Amino acid sequence: MPPVILAVADVVDGQLTRLSTEVATLARGLAAEAGGVAVGLVVAASPDAAAAELAGYVGRVISVAQPAMADTVPAPFVLAEVRRLVDEGAGVIVAGATTDGRDVLGALVAFTGFGYLANADAVAWADGAPVMTSTVLGGKAVVRSTSSTAGTAITVRAAAITADAAAVPGTVEQRAPATGPAVPAAVVRERVAEAGAQVSLEEARIVVVGGRGVGGPEGFDLVGDVADALGGVVGASRAAVDAGWIPYARQVGQTGRIVKPALYLGLGVSGAMQHRVGMQRSETIVCVNRDPDAPMAEIADLFVVADLFEVGPALAAEVRARKGA
Ligand SMILES: Cc1cc2nc3c(=O)[nH]c(=O)nc-3n(C[C@H](O)[C@H](O)[C@H](O)COP(=O)(O)OP(=O)(O)OC[C@H]3O[C@@H](n4cnc5c(N)ncnc54)[C@H](O)[C@@H]3O)c2cc1C
Repeated sequence: MPPVILAVADVVDGQLTRLSTEVATLARGLAAEAGGVAVGLVVAASPDAAAAELAGYVGRVISVAQPAMADTVPAPFVLAEVRRLVDEGAGVIVAGATTDGRDVLGALVAFTGFGYLANADAVAWADGAPVMTSTVLGGKAVVRSTSSTAGTAITVRAAAITADAAAVPGTVEQRAPATGPAVPAAVVRERVAEAGAQVSLEEARIVVVGGRGVGGPEGFDLVGDVADALGGVVGASRAAVDAGWIPYARQVGQTGRIVKPALYLGLGVSGAMQHRVGMQRSETIVCVNRDPDAPMAEIADLFVVADLFEVGPALAAEVRARKGA
């Protein structure tokens, strides 16, 4: 029987995440390689827009409106739909390596005995089974893993796969929710917007990152100003976070967020391996650093050897002048 690969989407604030389009692209590629079928799954209080968008990446999307999810965590309801699709024949389940993705697939593995491959950077077939490639030890080693079980659940790292729309959009099939979740759903009592994060780091097209070189919390005023001028989002190295200059939610890297913006601009960031694994897939990398030998020079498309306190304000002013702002 041709394999059925299920791509489980994440919907945040009613929006399909970019990672979901990456996961769907992966599922489509795996299905094409094995002569199988790729199916997308969107489960949300109001799934229509996200399901329509996901259909741009995968041939068949199942959309489930679950009103209860308006004020609960999503995993129990998503899990119920995934289990129904497993009963219908889905044998490879891929989801983003997010809190929700891990919750859903972790519980799925417990209920079904599927094998679990975590944090994939890439997945391909070998001898009829999915084989995951994943970087470990801060990017110093690459491991290939597979599972000997009949079914496999795989979480995929953000920005590892390039989202690629299908030549022909797929169809959306609406379904009534599966009967009640098998595990209780925690109720969300309050949602608190992350300060200064209109767009998440993962979704941002421009990320301006401040490192230890910004010198203190006030240095992030400059980072924020440059980000504001460029229409970008502020990120930080761990050194800046550990120093208490900016919240952990802004950290980019191995133990922070993985970003893949069109433009990464680093101000006073040296480019340690643990930072690079979180940003090295950015489309264009520009860095400002006083030290010409900083490791970031190895991967930057443009490496500006200069003082960030001279370049930063000049850059913000020039961008604003050109925008007529
Ligand atoms: C297990 C583990 C996990 C880690 N996870 C992460 C992670 O997720 N993210 C992360 O970022 N790090 C992580 N780290 C830490 C990482 O190894 C580095 O220590 C950290 O990235 C360094 O941050 P930095 O580049 O800001 O600081 P530094 O390495 O100190 O670099 C500061 C740079 O600023 C430049 N500079 C100084 N003043 C100026 C100026 N005025 N103008 C221009 N340039 C200037 C300097 O030349 C220097 O290159 C991790 C480490 C470990 C062990």
